[in-house]
Amino acid sequence: MKLHEYQAKQVFADAGIPTPPSTLAKTADGVVEAADEIGYPVAIKAQVQVGGRGKAGGIELVDDAEEAREAAESILGMDLKGLHVDSVLVEGAVDFVNELYLGITMDRGEGKPVAMVSTKGGVDIEQVAEEDPDAIVREHVDPAFGMFPYQARRAVFEAGVDREVATDVASVLRTLYQLWADNDATEAEINPLMVTADDEVIAADAVMNIDEDALFRQPDLVEMEDTSAGGDELEAKADEYGFDYVRLSGNVGIIGNGAGLVMTTLDLVDHYGGEPANFLDVGGGAKAERIANALDMVFSDENVDSVVFNIFGGITRGDEVAKGINSALEQFDEIPKPVVVRLAGTNWEEGMEILNEDLVTIEKTLEDAVQRSVEYAQEVDA
Ligand code: GDP
Ligand code: MN
Repeated sequence: MKLHEYQAKQVFADAGIPTPPSTLAKTADGVVEAADEIGYPVAIKAQVQVGGRGKAGGIELVDDAEEAREAAESILGMDLKGLHVDSVLVEGAVDFVNELYLGITMDRGEGKPVAMVSTKGGVDIEQVAEEDPDAIVREHVDPAFGMFPYQARRAVFEAGVDREVATDVASVLRTLYQLWADNDATEAEINPLMVTADDEVIAADAVMNIDEDALFRQPDLVEMEDTSAGGDELEAKADEYGFDYVRLSGNVGIIGNGAGLVMTTLDLVDHYGGEPANFLDVGGGAKAERIANALDMVFSDENVDSVVFNIFGGITRGDEVAKGINSALEQFDEIPKPVVVRLAGTNWEEGMEILNEDLVTIEKTLEDAVQRSVEYAQEVDA
């Protein structure tokens, strides 16, 4: 889950990292009012969850109310890299002499968090990472101990940050690491951390991405989630239904109970020359309603051309599943996409009898079921 810049900045500011004065606005009038209040010059910044807004025209610096209104009118409502801009952050512009980069992420190779510092911050940091990787200093952190002050100082000095601000930058870096850890972030980044002529450091941008699997213990952050922008509609639906769901690029919809079983089905679809459209695990003990919801999910994916159900009854009973499939499909005058079902385990025979063969294709083995669903999908494709 990505936070907006204004949200990440709030989290940073609450932890004591200096940020410019700012106000969120959704209308041109609101922008001018906020800008008048803050005092010119101000930066007007599109709040969309994507990097590189500056280069894409989503950030403007303005010197008076008239310019502020013009900028607001051009940025509000614009389409920025496919995302609709419905709010902007109005922020006191910083007069800077240097732009630094600070970032924390997980280094999977090392199995440790890594803090990164560069004096080549600003809009071209990706290019720096590619062309001049040595310009970014890395310091690994043992999560059991957190980031020691000496580690932060070492990284900052090695990166070549001016002595006058090194202590402050090191302190911001430690705070950033602590925020990364405390908030279950996958990334925390300040780019740029601006250095002013009188040696102040100010976070002019803020990025924080949160590990979705940790959201259950981050209730404050969940409240910040913006479900209106950027999120995949189907993934939002899956959240609502409580499914483990991943959208993939193929056209064979897959529903199963248990992650291993679904993975196996995915592999088999691939094995028989098909392409999975999704991973969807309805979980154990799936009752009729959950089955109907799962079907609703795959049917509303326009890429899906056929559906294969792979259910192994343990806690989940075959007859319950069969009822769910029937009741979900009976709602349609015409079944939107062909559905193939394979039932095994608890009450599979009862389930097979209950299933309405006018609505679904029944196969006894998993191999046959998968092959049939791949054929159906290929027929649609042809
Ligand atoms: P991003 O392009 O989405 O990463 O957005 P940033 O917030 O990093 O802004 C991009 C660039 O705009 C910065 O590197 C600065 O050069 C410039 N910028 C942003 N805010 C200010 C500001 O308050 N004052 C000045 N002078 N420039 C700014
Ligand atoms: Mn930035």
